[in-house]
Amino acid sequence: MIVRRSAAELAIMREAGRVTARALRAVGDAVAPGVTTAELDEVAVAIIEAAGAKPAFKGYHGFPATICASRNGEVVHGIPGKVRLVEGDIISVDMGAIVDGYYGDSARTFAVGKVSAEATALMDATRLSLEAGIAQCYPGNRLYDIGAAVQATAEAAGFSVVREYVGHGIGRNMHEEPQVPNYGTAGKGPQLMAGMVLAIEPMINAGGAGVRQLDDGWTVVTADGKLSAHFEHTVAITAEGPYVLTLE
Ligand code: MG
Ligand code: MG
Repeated sequence: MIVRRSAAELAIMREAGRVTARALRAVGDAVAPGVTTAELDEVAVAIIEAAGAKPAFKGYHGFPATICASRNGEVVHGIPGKVRLVEGDIISVDMGAIVDGYYGDSARTFAVGKVSAEATALMDATRLSLEAGIAQCYPGNRLYDIGAAVQATAEAAGFSVVREYVGHGIGRNMHEEPQVPNYGTAGKGPQLMAGMVLAIEPMINAGGAGVRQLDDGWTVVTADGKLSAHFEHTVAITAEGPYVLTLE
């Protein structure tokens, strides 16, 4: 069952999204060669605490940090630590905040200094695939219209879509029904209705779609070691169309 949120609930989720967006921007502003991913985590903690919100990821199934920091060939769920960013890296940062029991969830891949043409193209295609997915968020459309749009955009740019990890419904829990795959057949799946809130989050690989998990039990990497990018917004479906909650 897919929960539909009231206007009052969406107003709280907008605030959770605003805090999430502010923290993610601050982390992005701090990205630079020589900075550690643990230092990026501290930036996010400071913003979320100052807003009186709670981090959504810390302690989630035992995850030890406030942000996921996934570098280069890491896809998602990288654990912040002592690793120092190097000029030319790309770093995917995923984070969420909780306000009054409601969740926001957003991710973005940042360039560390000057990056390769391939890295730039991958980040652009991933962001555009998210925007294409969001553009499907109208009542009456079908759930897999979103994934079909994401997939078409990413593959047209010559990249591949991760299958094992997907977007999700979000509200009073970070992960609710339905799963929101980044691939699929347009016209299929449950009908979208006003009040549904979805976290849409394409994970797009420069090489093959395959991924594997490292022995730390968290970090997911590309099977071929090539780059991966990740962009995510929390989006409400309204009568007027998509309402992106994770903006400042
Ligand atoms: Mg996320
Ligand atoms: Mg998510």
